[in-house]
Amino acid sequence: MGIMSRRTRRPRPARPTPASCPCGLPAAYADCCGRLHRGQTRATTAEQLMRSRYSAFAVGDEAYLLRSWHPTTRPPGAGLDPGLRWVRLEILGTTEGSAFHTTGTVEFRAHYTQGGGTGSLHENSRFVRHEGAWVYLDGVTGD
Ligand SMILES: [Zn+2]
Repeated sequence: MGIMSRRTRRPRPARPTPASCPCGLPAAYADCCGRLHRGQTRATTAEQLMRSRYSAFAVGDEAYLLRSWHPTTRPPGAGLDPGLRWVRLEILGTTEGSAFHTTGTVEFRAHYTQGGGTGSLHENSRFVRHEGAWVYLDGVTGD
């Protein structure tokens, strides 16, 4: 997920389950994406990196977003918007990106609330290995 381009839709209540990680897996944040954010472990798949980056947007961890961004496409800042709250991630599909690959893509829809309304970002992201670690390269956004 890169710098956001957004569409806003009609208001609709949406709340994350407090006990689960923002990325949607049934684990506490501290035991899930929090371990990657703290540098205790690294993503083994492109999808895991994608989930951890989504969670970093959700918790506002800009440092993690920047260090998991490929140096050739990394912006000066992650473009975090304090008025925007990420509420749900849907993984729509993946290609490659396993422990045995050096490239991979993850297509996802990320849902947010902003100013009493809701919207979503649909993106097909590209990931590559950089110095052995999965990093975000770029993405194509769609409807
Ligand atoms: Zn997680």
